[in-house]
Amino acid sequence: MPELVDCLREWKKDKASRKELFKQVAGIPGVYVPSLYQVEYQDGLVKSIAPTAAEAKPVIQRRIIAKLPPPVTRPVVPYIEIIHDRGAVEIQRGCARGCRFCQAGIIYRPLRLRPQEEVIETVGELIANCGYNEVSLVSLSTSDYPKIEELVKGLVQNYPNLNLSLPSLRIDSFSVRLMDALPGRKSGLTFAPEAGSQRLRQFINKSTSEDEIVETTAAALARGWKSLKLYFMLGLPTETTEDVEDIVRLVDKIRAVGKGGVPRVRVSLSTFIPKPHTPFQWVAQESEAELNAKHELLKRGLRRKGGQVSWQEPKVSQLEAVLSRGDRRLGKVIYGAWKLGSTFDAWDECFDYEKWLRAFNESGLEADFYARRERSLDEHLPWAHIDVGVSADFLKQEYQRAMEGKETPDCRTQACNACGLERLIADCRQKLGAS
Ligand code: SF4
Repeated sequence: MPELVDCLREWKKDKASRKELFKQVAGIPGVYVPSLYQVEYQDGLVKSIAPTAAEAKPVIQRRIIAKLPPPVTRPVVPYIEIIHDRGAVEIQRGCARGCRFCQAGIIYRPLRLRPQEEVIETVGELIANCGYNEVSLVSLSTSDYPKIEELVKGLVQNYPNLNLSLPSLRIDSFSVRLMDALPGRKSGLTFAPEAGSQRLRQFINKSTSEDEIVETTAAALARGWKSLKLYFMLGLPTETTEDVEDIVRLVDKIRAVGKGGVPRVRVSLSTFIPKPHTPFQWVAQESEAELNAKHELLKRGLRRKGGQVSWQEPKVSQLEAVLSRGDRRLGKVIYGAWKLGSTFDAWDECFDYEKWLRAFNESGLEADFYARRERSLDEHLPWAHIDVGVSADFLKQEYQRAMEGKETPDCRTQACNACGLERLIADCRQKLGAS
């Protein structure tokens, strides 16, 4: 950012053209200026992406900061009640778990921590500056922060009237103990098993065992929690009807472990969206008909067992899958849909799929080409010139390991998985003098 701002400042002084500015910023490592690249297509597929100016690099490398930047302690405080109306401190960035569907788990690597003392100080400043009485410790996988129990204890001691929220907890008894140590009312607990069967959890490399899931929820219920929210994903690659039925079976098993009465279990279903820079970036999304059938199966099964279900419309998921792995030709579709009146599409009452279909037709493109087409491993992907640090070879290897039913361990506790970031991590460690 400072380099970009310096560049802007100079450009304003020089009164040069916008084109000149684009060239100058393209020379800053990590900055991508799409208009300075030429894409060639062959048979509808991307054939090549090449820079058209000397300043633009053939490959744009993500910049990685070794030490997390100072936390935000004076954010704008809204004067209306908003969702997530609380302060937030990023306690760590990155995640080493390697769930194969997860884009954040790849593009925010490597894992970097904010020191405990800095978190405690930041919380104090947020309370003083903004008047918050609730602070969230933000991270992709909060229970993985080393000595998180000690951190929570320190915060409770320093700020006894503060409510703490800990999002993204792992499914284990440690998370329940951790939540139990928090002051305040026991609201709901949220876990994300993602898949109903052990086979599929292993496939996506998030293989919490069924026993662990059931024991963890039993421990939570025994400690006084009465309601649970569980996140599952539908339409994962290789998912069968049995895998879907296993979600109903698992929820039923969980509801049965509540000793002092049946707990309230809410199930939130999302649809698998293949994402760039993940080991599943080559796979096809399921059709709307297949997804609808699975939704029906689940809704019927869960409601029969007394569970509450919420889900995302398969049409919305399909559009998400199109945009997730689109190329620059989709610009015409987005512009077309907007001209037809599509705005605020994330609101159900504003979402009009027909407008999008018309925009696709008018642009001569097909949604299925983007969402439902399996890519070959050697296809030139539209984001191949963006290097996030994790190598394409590692992603391919992970895809193949998934197909072979093999898990890949967390590299914090096991050997390095050689994801491509080894050199960068070594540099970060050297800069920080850390192990
Ligand atoms: S635990 Fe898995 S899903 Fe969560 S951030 Fe890490 S890699 Fe992604």
